[in-house]
Amino acid sequence: MNKQLKKLAILGSTGSIGTSTLSICESFPDRYQVVSLAAGSNIDAAFAQCQRWRPKVISIATEQLAAELSSRLFAAGITGIEVVSGTAGTIHVATLPDVNFVVSAIVGVAGLEATYAAVCAGKTIGLANKECLVAAGELIIAAAQKHNVALLPIDSEHNAVHQCMRGGTPAEVHQVWLTASGGPFRNTPIADFASITPAQALKHPTWVMGQRITIDSATMMNKGFEVIEACRLFHLPPDQVRVTIHPQSTVHSLVEFVDGSILAQISVTDMRLPILYALAYPERVPVASKVPLTFDLASLAHLDFAQPDLNRFPCLRLAYEAAAIGGDACIALNAADEIAVAAFLSHQIPFLGIPRTIEAVLSLTKVNHPQSIQDVLTADAAARECAQSVIAQQLTARV
Ligand code: NAD
Ligand code: MG
Repeated sequence: MNKQLKKLAILGSTGSIGTSTLSICESFPDRYQVVSLAAGSNIDAAFAQCQRWRPKVISIATEQLAAELSSRLFAAGITGIEVVSGTAGTIHVATLPDVNFVVSAIVGVAGLEATYAAVCAGKTIGLANKECLVAAGELIIAAAQKHNVALLPIDSEHNAVHQCMRGGTPAEVHQVWLTASGGPFRNTPIADFASITPAQALKHPTWVMGQRITIDSATMMNKGFEVIEACRLFHLPPDQVRVTIHPQSTVHSLVEFVDGSILAQISVTDMRLPILYALAYPERVPVASKVPLTFDLASLAHLDFAQPDLNRFPCLRLAYEAAAIGGDACIALNAADEIAVAAFLSHQIPFLGIPRTIEAVLSLTKVNHPQSIQDVLTADAAARECAQSVIAQQLTARV
């Protein structure tokens, strides 16, 4: 039987989610066709993807890199690929008439405009980029409703919730439980937090991911973003989205219904599973021998769940506070975190400087609700500038 071919734009194709998506395309060529790609600055990876996938269009971060990629393609005798650049290029990739499914997997707000444009162009979205929903969730959800577009979560917890939600109606949901591994510092004495190094924080116990999300997992800001993401995707207030520490990362999340039933989703810790679920929805694709995603139930010794300690993980508390305010508070939460994580990775600020910076930026942010993507970007730029000056003050204070 010839399945309906889904024609994909992959935003962030050279990243962790992007390459996992391409490996799914590799396994199911009869179902998924790569039409266009958007990458950042990794020109070698972008060139290799052009060679392998022959997209109609590829976008790369800058004009200069686009010129370099074009000449490399020409020298290799590869023709017929349109090379574009920057935000306009990413939007072009995401809105091509040929494309009917967009995988949004650029990290940070860099992916926001293209994701929003794709929603407005009526494309089905496989959404990995959580920062989009944190910063501009109200606008994206409203646009998705207006254009009757499905936003299918790829983030494993939301993907699990999406699956569990099929067990009842939205009105029957009492609350959602997002599981968190607790990251590498779940049991580290709080006194040792001050000396945590980037190398230690980049070692995630159960998932292999990009750098920013790995640090966000160590501070639990990632879970904070996911609380906001869940509020938006599933139309829930923050107090109906709970977090539970589950070190095995086996239960990817749970939905508790009004009658007391709790449905959980269990699977291997492999992002190809939620990616394939989103790509295939509303079908379920038999993976069989093509992708090794079978879960060995017999190996399951026990499942632990515990309450998160907000003193250990102040980022989670800050995220709940921002979620309750909404608008610019969520934009500032994301922007300040991105700047603070970069400063931590470049050894400018200590691990505890991350929540300290975010808390300072939030306290300086006025309550406002953006009316357009431009408003979001303006508030985002202001929060970044604020974070930079908060960090500069911390550095001066240390000298
Ligand atoms: P990554 O750092 O591995 O990849 C990011 C991708 O974005 C790369 O292709 C990079 O080239 C591209 N990019 C960066 N800046 C860009 C720009 N200005 N223009 C165009 N492209 C740009 O990140 P990742 O781990 O794949 O995560 C991607 C998104 O998915 C993030 O929002 C993350 O929070 C989310 N997510 C990831 C995972 C995971 O397991 N990796 C799980 C859940 C959610
Ligand atoms: Mg997640």
